[in-house]
Amino acid sequence: MTTYYERNKDRIKAYQKKYCSEHAEEARARAKAWYAKNKTHPLFRLHAELRKHGLTLDDYNAMLQAQEGRCKVCGGTNPAGRPMTAYPRGLVCTGCAIALGRLAKLGPDAVSNAIDVLWGDDDA
Ligand SMILES: [Zn+2]
Repeated sequence: MTTYYERNKDRIKAYQKKYCSEHAEEARARAKAWYAKNKTHPLFRLHAELRKHGLTLDDYNAMLQAQEGRCKVCGGTNPAGRPMTAYPRGLVCTGCAIALGRLAKLGPDAVSNAIDVLWGDDDA
């Protein structure tokens, strides 16, 4: 038995193609609105981070399990429902991600200076 779709495949495809070309602007506007509404959603951000680092959701889950759900820097956790921030070598909580993001942008010298400022020898 053939389905309705199989019997009318060419006609349906032609209709879809015509509809999409006639409503391209609407579709673009809908996609743009969806992005504006969802770009700050924690899971949307997580997937964007994973893509940026070439990681998959399986990688994320494996790291999360290996770290027992805890931040690799401070050992803390994020509030329920908020995913950890993914780096290729580990997952960190939101607080540590903010600190790491700033230091990563400034580079290794800034990290060294930060260590001096926080725990440096005052007699040196
Ligand atoms: Zn942390």
